[in-house]
Amino acid sequence: MTASPTRLPTIPVMRPLLGEEEAEAVAEVVRSGWVAQGPKVAEFEREFAASVGAGHGIATTSCTTALHLSLLLLGIGPGDEVVVPSFSFIATANTVRHCGGTPVFADVERDSGNLDPASVAAVITPRTRAVVVVHQGGMPCDVSAIAAVCGDLPIVEDAACAAGSQAHGRPVGSGALLAAWSFHPRKVLTTGEGGMITTDDPEWAVRLRRLREHGMSVSAADRHAAGDKVIIESYVEQAYNFRLTDLQAAMGLVQLRRLPGMVDRRRELAARYASLLPDLGVRPVADPPFGRSNFQSYWVELPDSAPPVPDVLQTMARAGVSGRRGIMAAHLEPAYAGHPHVPLPVTEHLTTRSLILPLYHDMTESDQRRVVDTLAAAITDPSGAS
Ligand SMILES: *Cc1c(COP(=O)(O)O)cnc(C)c1O
Repeated sequence: MTASPTRLPTIPVMRPLLGEEEAEAVAEVVRSGWVAQGPKVAEFEREFAASVGAGHGIATTSCTTALHLSLLLLGIGPGDEVVVPSFSFIATANTVRHCGGTPVFADVERDSGNLDPASVAAVITPRTRAVVVVHQGGMPCDVSAIAAVCGDLPIVEDAACAAGSQAHGRPVGSGALLAAWSFHPRKVLTTGEGGMITTDDPEWAVRLRRLREHGMSVSAADRHAAGDKVIIESYVEQAYNFRLTDLQAAMGLVQLRRLPGMVDRRRELAARYASLLPDLGVRPVADPPFGRSNFQSYWVELPDSAPPVPDVLQTMARAGVSGRRGIMAAHLEPAYAGHPHVPLPVTEHLTTRSLILPLYHDMTESDQRRVVDTLAAAITDPSGAS
């Protein structure tokens, strides 16, 4: 195939905002000689926890491992049910299985893609031990509405996408029992790979630090800090190696300083999309009355008249615009074939009839117009966009 000389560059779905500051911060850690979990991780934990209004941060390798440890902490094991949305990245459900528990799927609300309290209430049984709510695509979930139907069941917040989002005038994560965060490049704040648990409970923080570091009674960093005082560690329970590195944390500290600006910019771009899209009959995701999204994912629900999502994406891709299918539904994947669940009509509708549009910091107005024009052509005449 020969590329046309006038072909415009492909518009990516997401592009992390990284600069010389990140490169310099990582280089400095390399020069320091301490590259594994150490002082930079501790600093990143303190600053990230403070930024979301939580008492403690426990860095991990990913949000997946952050959720895994949060559920282990709550004692989830074989025979235990944990309510989760199917409408989420598959890791949300998988982490229940990582603990030996059984994920029980509940449906979501059409506007936000977040858990529907009535659906949660309907799947709670005497074996339910916890509920995982997701702030899907950065859209804040009204955790208080879920809590209202959960009695005293613990709620874990999958805040993978939600750094910088707000609910009820406070950052998502503020007041959370346990919140799990992701720093994968598809999210707003990135460390390459990485995650964090935030909580206000100091004893939980101690146990979580131990669980992510082989069950050691004292961390390698603390032993080092003790200087010439010899400390012999013990291994008090079977645990894991889910440690973040100082290389990643150094990058995270720079990204954390950029976060407010990145969120403002995403909200500006989302507002422009919202003003460009209505003529097409698509429904863009929008802030709920009680909160503000960071618009980590900007998804739109297609009108009934539009072709199937894969066809729309294919037409857009041929025109150099990378969209993505909407949020996935775990129960439709082979990994969950045969897994029992209640009917999930809203999940199935949204996952098959929505798609994610490109949105990244340095996106220009003409990029956005090109996305909208391409989408318009793809949903009216699937062969017309080129
Ligand atoms: C990305 C994502 C995860 C997984 O995060 P990792 O850091 O890649 O493990 C979990 N839950 C949701 C909702 C996500 O979007």
